[in-house]
Amino acid sequence: METCEKFKLTIHATCQMANDLIIKALKTKSNSLNLSSRKITHLPEVFARLTWIVILKLNNNYLSSLPSELMCLQKLTELNLGNNVLEEIPSVLKHLHCLNKLYLYGNKISHLPPEGALGWKNLKILDVAGNCLSVFPVGFLTLEELFFEGNNLVPFTLMESIQEKEVLSLKDMLSHWGQCALCSQPFLTTWLECVQFINTRKHMGMKSSQSVPVRVLLCSYDCFNRDDHQYYGLVRL
Ligand SMILES: [Zn+2]
Repeated sequence: METCEKFKLTIHATCQMANDLIIKALKTKSNSLNLSSRKITHLPEVFARLTWIVILKLNNNYLSSLPSELMCLQKLTELNLGNNVLEEIPSVLKHLHCLNKLYLYGNKISHLPPEGALGWKNLKILDVAGNCLSVFPVGFLTLEELFFEGNNLVPFTLMESIQEKEVLSLKDMLSHWGQCALCSQPFLTTWLECVQFINTRKHMGMKSSQSVPVRVLLCSYDCFNRDDHQYYGLVRL
């Protein structure tokens, strides 16, 4: 019981410290705010008033989500959310149109939104290292730097396979409309999940040369069996 009380007090004290820093930033109108390593579990509503903030560091905390109030920070260009406990990219981030550096390393993110970086037209640097990603959606080709080491990315391993329906075990139901990457036909119910390996230097113009699996959806085995493409079917081993 005593330990519990002590824990509560510690949390309260660190939250108070974070609040003090926010209040200080409100008073000084500083354009950057560093709240890293403050044991923060959620952001207070007062954040919405920091409308002039350009750089915000929230790394090394316990954030699992972000409040919609963060949308008010329309001048934000750099956001560090590294080493938190996010399981997905918080939806509020796509409303931060000035973002050009986004750090999400060391979280538990297993997928990136289908629209990729399209919501962030100015995004140049994305760091998603040390998450649980397996493939990248299309739309990340405009970045200048992409950090993705330490994920469980689909490996480039060619396997002999007979193109039977069982081969692509990730055939699944879609909850939304899609379009075939080969024949451009729309499909609504079933699809085949494939990957295309994109080279970061050749296709994205980045300095480093690495291979990134990018998600591609095909409408049917008829399309998959065509020999005019370089998409690879995913096989669950
Ligand atoms: Zn097709």
